[in-house]
Amino acid sequence: WHRWIYDDYYRSYLVPLEKYGLKIPHDLVEEAWNRIYNKDYVHEVAQFFATGWPVNYWRIDPMTDEDFEWFEFKYPGWYNKYGKWWENYNRLRYPGKNKPIAFEDVDYQYPHRCWTCMVPALIREDMVTEKVDGQWRTYCSETCAWTDIKAFRPEYEGRPTPNMGRLTGHREWETLHHNRDLADIIKDLGYVRDDGKTLIA
Ligand SMILES: [Zn+2]
Repeated sequence: WHRWIYDDYYRSYLVPLEKYGLKIPHDLVEEAWNRIYNKDYVHEVAQFFATGWPVNYWRIDPMTDEDFEWFEFKYPGWYNKYGKWWENYNRLRYPGKNKPIAFEDVDYQYPHRCWTCMVPALIREDMVTEKVDGQWRTYCSETCAWTDIKAFRPEYEGRPTPNMGRLTGHREWETLHHNRDLADIIKDLGYVRDDGKTLIA
């Protein structure tokens, strides 16, 4: 992770942009690494998207003993935090015997979605909540909160920004599909093949 963030992303992509006058937030690069490595961001993201597999067009395979050992070896302490959940993911792998894992009791707290980056607010201590444009919104981090509240506005630091992006509309999946039947959602997403089977099950 260190090499990917500092060498690939930071040194070969971000830093050269300084020559063109862009301001690079160096401290944020440090925090990006901190979130991924120390705050378990990658493990939280994997668990979240594995939870929602029926509405993805892909599904992470259940883990083998070898996988469990690999994760514990690479990330000591991983099994204590995530092992039990992935054991449940294995147990609930058989269609027809149980509901998809998102609808079974496996001690998982479904997270709020980040209004800006659309990944959920998975690191609890980093989550920001703010009433913006008359609506309560959640953000995964101070940076994402800043993007929506300060940067993507009609004016930034006193200058009008007519070409700036706007984070509006039905942004979160959870709002868009609220109270709808899962089968209808999967059909609408186009995940049913001509033979009536879904793409992954
Ligand atoms: Zn975010």
